[in-house]
Amino acid sequence: MDRNLLIFERGEMGRRCATFPDAGDAVVPIPDGMYRNDPPALPEVSELELVRHYVNLSSMNFSIDTAFYPLGSCTMKYNPKVHERVARLPDFAGLHPFADTATSQAALRVLWEMDGILRAVTGMDGFTFQPAAGAQGEFVGISLIAAYHRENRDNRQVVLIPDSAHGTNPATAAMCGFRVETLKSTDRGTVDVADLKAKMNDRVAGLMLTNPNTFGVFEDEILDIQQVVHDGGGLLYYDGANLNAFLGQCRPGDMGFDVVHINLHKTFTTPHGGGGPGSGPVGVKETLLPYLPVPVVTKTGDRFGLDYDRPRSIGKVSTFFGNFGMVIRAYVYARMLGAEGMRRTSEMAVLNANYIASRLDGHYDRPKSAQPMHEMVFSASKQKKSSGVSALDIAKRLIDYGHHPPTIYFPLPRVAPEAMLIEPTETESLEQLDEFIEAMIQIAGESEENPELLHDAPHQTPVRRLDEATAARKPVLRAPRRE
Ligand SMILES: *Cc1c(COP(=O)(O)O)cnc(C)c1O
Repeated sequence: MDRNLLIFERGEMGRRCATFPDAGDAVVPIPDGMYRNDPPALPEVSELELVRHYVNLSSMNFSIDTAFYPLGSCTMKYNPKVHERVARLPDFAGLHPFADTATSQAALRVLWEMDGILRAVTGMDGFTFQPAAGAQGEFVGISLIAAYHRENRDNRQVVLIPDSAHGTNPATAAMCGFRVETLKSTDRGTVDVADLKAKMNDRVAGLMLTNPNTFGVFEDEILDIQQVVHDGGGLLYYDGANLNAFLGQCRPGDMGFDVVHINLHKTFTTPHGGGGPGSGPVGVKETLLPYLPVPVVTKTGDRFGLDYDRPRSIGKVSTFFGNFGMVIRAYVYARMLGAEGMRRTSEMAVLNANYIASRLDGHYDRPKSAQPMHEMVFSASKQKKSSGVSALDIAKRLIDYGHHPPTIYFPLPRVAPEAMLIEPTETESLEQLDEFIEAMIQIAGESEENPELLHDAPHQTPVRRLDEATAARKPVLRAPRRE
């Protein structure tokens, strides 16, 4: 590799230069304007003070490793620690992204074999691992659909999306230049097929669907849905964020989906809290294989290689091979479980969710009538009406009981008012589920007897109610001084 790739261009950029001992005459001029004039205002603290600062901060964190995290839709599973050990093996962790294929056979093999596992699990014909999140997977998937229609000289400008969809779906369609038309849900919580038939026509490029959808309800008319879309010349996109509900039991490829994304940081237990790094591999049916991003991993005899020579590819969508470390973790997870383990995983996820749903029924309203799978939507409408207690109040009060709140106000209020989207996953014990259920029941009682207690919750956290939008836009990164 050319050393200069990593270094600023030589020449006029600066007078002062830093030299790497090993760099020969390749020097690194630092542009003049980039030197600071004054030393940085670093706190004057000892090592011990620093250690205490960070350890105390870290103990304020909530994580899946500290307590229950029933985060609907964003499957929030325990991250098995053995994954970390494998991902940190020096031969993986130390591999240079520019290493040639001769010295990266093991890594290429992991990509190749994980591709095979995902094909087996989804019923698709090939994957790319480049997307670094589900949302980027959507962008890649819809770009593939756009490329397909473009090549067929078929000018389609609309993507259909159900009203229960995750916000990234319409955002993706818009980013790819499509207009979004929304499909209604039935009272059961599934796509209204009559509405789909009314809106399907030769301007529709495709339908984006999550299954089970974000009500946790399985789209049991999926075969009719795919027929309508395909008969109309459209393609079907599978948002795989909820794959955990039927992993190892049935496959989006058999339901007629043409493109899928999978969130390795959801279904396949790679780190998720704190923002990732994520991984959203995209799989396609055979007709779309030529459009996949480059490079594609190949196998000739027992040697693995990389194929860049794919003229119909949509190109590259991220540097190198995506978040490769996440692929290793997911690979370890899949290999540990095997087909039988995956089936059992989704069975337990659905059983746990239905246990919660059946025990909380009556205490809270459930806006959609169909039996849920791995997650369920409850509503605080009843509480809101009788005592002014909102889903937000209930979520905040749960923190006092030691549980992370579920996702709230999603699905959106116009389809599920005061929503609380609860997903326990398969990794929680019966005792843990009972503890959560008891807390929810107690909170329902408190909302009758002492609504103020809930309006003011949480009572036991270092900070109370944050202005979350401001906190995200203008974060205060310094800890307050201890008095
Ligand atoms: C999480 C999620 C996404 C987006 O995935 P990211 O990996 O967070 O970008 C899309 N759709 C649904 C239903 C989701 O739950």
